[in-house]
Amino acid sequence: MAPSGLRSLCCGHAILAVMETETAPAAQPQNLSVERLLVANPHGYCAGVLFALRGADLARQIYPDRPVWVYHEIVHNPDPVNELRALGVEFCDDVAEAPDGAVLLFSAHGVSPAVRAQAAARSFHAVIDLTCPLVARVHEAVLRHTADHIILIGKHTHDEIAGTLGEVPERTRVVSSIEDVQRLDLPQDEQIVFVTQTTWSIQDAQAIIAAIRRRYPRARPAIASTAGPDGENEHASICYATENRQQAVITGAREADLVLVIGGDKSENTANLVHTARAHGARSQRVQDVGELRPEWLEGVKTVLITSGASTPEYRLEEAIAWFRARGVRQIEALGEPEKMQRSVPEGFALPSELRAAIRRVEDERGEPLQPRSRAAQAWRGTEMQERSRSSGLSAGGA
Ligand code: SF4
Repeated sequence: MAPSGLRSLCCGHAILAVMETETAPAAQPQNLSVERLLVANPHGYCAGVLFALRGADLARQIYPDRPVWVYHEIVHNPDPVNELRALGVEFCDDVAEAPDGAVLLFSAHGVSPAVRAQAAARSFHAVIDLTCPLVARVHEAVLRHTADHIILIGKHTHDEIAGTLGEVPERTRVVSSIEDVQRLDLPQDEQIVFVTQTTWSIQDAQAIIAAIRRRYPRARPAIASTAGPDGENEHASICYATENRQQAVITGAREADLVLVIGGDKSENTANLVHTARAHGARSQRVQDVGELRPEWLEGVKTVLITSGASTPEYRLEEAIAWFRARGVRQIEALGEPEKMQRSVPEGFALPSELRAAIRRVEDERGEPLQPRSRAAQAWRGTEMQERSRSSGLSAGGA
C-alpha cells in the first residue's frame, strides 16, 4: 500500500508516482514559478562508478599503512574524489608521482598499455585495476581488430579515449564529429571497424556512424549485438548507463521547461545529458550542486526535470529536491524506473580478485564485513528516491 503523501498515477505516459503532494512545506524563501519537479529515472550512479568507488574506499581500508594513489580522478565528479582524498587517497596524472611501495589504482576510465607497463616497472606494493568492465570491453574489442583500421568515436582529451587509443595507436583514428570523418584518409579496400567512447551521445554517435558508413561502406562496429534493426547495434559500445540516462532525459524533456543536470564539469556522460536535452528542444543547464543554480534559469519555468550523471552521488540530487521543496514546489514526481543494478550490483562488476582476496583476509581478522567509509561510495540503495520509488511499486529495469 502506498504510504501517506504518495500515490500512483496512470496518465498514459511515464509518470509513475507523485510524492509529497500533501506534505510539502509551505515555506517560500524565494518566489518560484516552478510547480512540478520531475525526477528522471534512471539517474545517478552506474555499476561501473560504484565498482570503482567501492574499490578505492576498501583499498584504503585494507592497506592502512601504505600510501594509496589513483592514476587519474577515480571518476569525474569532485565529491567522491574529495571524500576519498579526505580518507588519505592521493591522485596523480602521472604514475611517476606515486611513491614506491604505494598501492596504485587505475581509475574507472581505463589506462593504456604504456601506463600499465610504467606501473609494472615500478616497485609498487600492489597495482589494482578499477577500470569499469564496460570500458575494458571496448579495449578487448579493439584488441580483436589489431589488423584492421579502427575509428574511435569520442573526445580526444578524455581519459577513456587516451586509454583505448593506447591499445593500438598506430591503427586507430579518433573522431569527434562528422567533419573529422570527412578528414579521414583510410584505404577503402582494407577492413575498418568503429567503436565509441562508452559515455558518448547516442544521437551524435549515430550521425557520426552514418557518416563513416557513407565514406567507408565496408566499415563495421567492433562490438556488435543483435539488438539493432539490421542485426547490429551500431552504438553498442556506448554503455547501458549512458543510454538509459539519455533516454530518460528524452522522455522527460517533452514535459519540462528546464532540464537540470547535476554532475561534475569533467563528466562526459553528464555533459551529454545536457547535450541530449538541448538536442531535443529543451533548455538545459548543468550544476555541480544546487548551490550553482542561477535564479534567472528558473524565471517563468513551471516544470523542471532533474537528473544526474553516472558519477554523481545521490545526495546531490536529494539536496536539489529538498531545495525545490523548501521553496514551495509541491508536486514532485518520479519518472521511469530505476535500473536493477541500483538494487543489486551485477556479477560482472565484482571487484578485482586480488582486492576481493585482501578484503576477505581483513574481514576474517576483524570478524565483520568491511563497509565503505566515504558517503559517496555508498550505493544508491536506501536513499530517499530509492525508497520512495520502491514504495510506489516501481519495478526494476534492466542494467
Ligand atoms: S558510465 Fe558506463 S562505462 Fe562509465 S563507469 Fe558507468 S557503466 Fe562504466
